[in-house]
Amino acid sequence: MLLLTRVVLLSALCAAALGCPRIISRSQWGARPPRGRVPLRTPVHYVIIHHTAGNRCYTQASCSQQVRGIQNYHMNTQRWPDIGYNFLIGEDGNVYEGRGWSTVGAHAKNWNSKSLGFSFLGTFTNGVPNTAALNAARSLIQCAVNRGFLSRTYTLKGHRNVNPTSCPGNALYRVISRWPRFKP
Ligand SMILES: [Zn+2]
Repeated sequence: MLLLTRVVLLSALCAAALGCPRIISRSQWGARPPRGRVPLRTPVHYVIIHHTAGNRCYTQASCSQQVRGIQNYHMNTQRWPDIGYNFLIGEDGNVYEGRGWSTVGAHAKNWNSKSLGFSFLGTFTNGVPNTAALNAARSLIQCAVNRGFLSRTYTLKGHRNVNPTSCPGNALYRVISRWPRFKP
C-alpha cells in the first residue's frame, strides 16, 4: 500500500515536471476558421523545426498579431486552407496553436503527413531564440510524446534536412542539432 502510494505520487510528480507548455488556442489568438482539414494519422515519427523568417515577438499581444499575419499570408497568398504549421513558438514563452495535433500541416513538402511542424516566430540566422522559447519548444516535443501524438522513438529534424531551404536559420539549426533524438 505504501509502495503504491509512492508510485502514484512519483508518477504525478513526473507528469507535472513534463507538463505541456502554455498553449494559446486559436480562439485566443483570433484565428480565422480553416477552409478545410485533413486528419493526421498519429502518432507520427518526425518533428520538423522551422523559423517563420519574420519578426521576433516577446508578448502575447505581439505574438498573436504575428500569428494572425502569417495565417493571412498562408491563406490569402499561398492559398492554403489554413496557417501551415502545427504550432508556433513565441519568445513570450507561449506556444500558439496552428493546425494543432491532429491535422496535416503545410510546412515541409513530402513530409507533412508524417510529421508535426513547429515554427519559432522570428528570424534565427544569426541570433538564437531566447530561453523561454527554447524551453517551450522542448516542452512541446515532450508534451506531444506524452499525449500520444508523437512516437516515443521520434526523430527531430530541421526543415533544411528535408527540403532545399535555409530554414530554420543557421543559429537555430545549430541549437536543435544538439537536442535529443536529432538526426540530419
Ligand atoms: Zn521551414
